[in-house]
Amino acid sequence: MISKDIYQAAEWLNNDAIVALPTETVYGLAGNIYSEKAIRKIFEVKKRPHNNPLIVHVGSKEAVKEIASNVPNIAWQLMDKFWPGPLTLVLPKQSTIPDSITAGKNTVAVRMPNHPDILQLLAILPFPLAAPSANPFGSISPTSAKHVANYFDDKIPLILDGGNCKNGIESTIIGFENDQAVLYRLGAISIEHIEKEIGPINIKNFEENTPSAPGMMLSHYAPKTFSVIATDLSDAIAFYKPKKIGLLLFNTKINNKEVFHQEILSVKGNLTEAGANLYAALHRLDALDLDVIIAEKFPDNELGKAINDRLKRATVTKDFK
Ligand code: AMP
Ligand code: MG
Repeated sequence: MISKDIYQAAEWLNNDAIVALPTETVYGLAGNIYSEKAIRKIFEVKKRPHNNPLIVHVGSKEAVKEIASNVPNIAWQLMDKFWPGPLTLVLPKQSTIPDSITAGKNTVAVRMPNHPDILQLLAILPFPLAAPSANPFGSISPTSAKHVANYFDDKIPLILDGGNCKNGIESTIIGFENDQAVLYRLGAISIEHIEKEIGPINIKNFEENTPSAPGMMLSHYAPKTFSVIATDLSDAIAFYKPKKIGLLLFNTKINNKEVFHQEILSVKGNLTEAGANLYAALHRLDALDLDVIIAEKFPDNELGKAINDRLKRATVTKDFK
């Protein structure tokens, strides 16, 4: 059931149930991090592998002390700059954090989200929330209450409607190795923006197909429709013609009668706006019963990097030359 009642959401959460909540990145499937029952349900409903740890959502910077046993100065600096916001920090965990949250690791991922509804909930609840994206494992992330309802309406008691997600792409994940910041997952805050604050950061190899390389399964965020990424759109269209083709484009419609539908992510050519519209456009394309979705490769800077990363995981790479 879609609802705007924050207190009802709190009541379900207080009683070991899981509910879907809006955040500024994507909708989350939330539960009490200390409730074994709730955490079990999150994995069950999402069909998420148990070796894929969850992000803990807190309502303040102070609350990190309850979650992490050691917080390097550079982590406080990042929190001061980017929280509340789409930056997740991986830190050594407190012994009180259940293994089911961290997949048995001695580190824990934590962030303070920036959406009034989840912040209000975290302020009234006596526990932090685990909240992975509210979609079946591997499928397109939800950026509206309706997207969540399409996946899970009969499986969860409540979907809190907080409008469309402003960032629309998952959080950037940073860990610390020898007190140096390491980027584990590209996300809603660009590398450029982070480096402006703390200087050059190391970047993990995103090609690893292991869940311990955070959020970085090679196939993820994927539509049901066969999808490819293309640098040369006319080559790709010529290759698939006369199939029923949908296009996912950055800023410019193309003039081609072979194409059934086109989605433009930002007419203004703004990468942040494009990121915010990415998943909703993929949901729409996926509902059109297309033979193929052709996604344009984005400029490889700022948020374009995170968009290309998600597109790579959502598509099959093909060379049209
Ligand atoms: P999401 O599925 O968007 O909620 O993101 C969760 C991601 O955070 C997962 O892909 C995890 O791999 C990553 N993550 C969570 N906890 C840890 C951890 N302790 N160490 C490394 N990565 C983590
Ligand atoms: Mg997810």
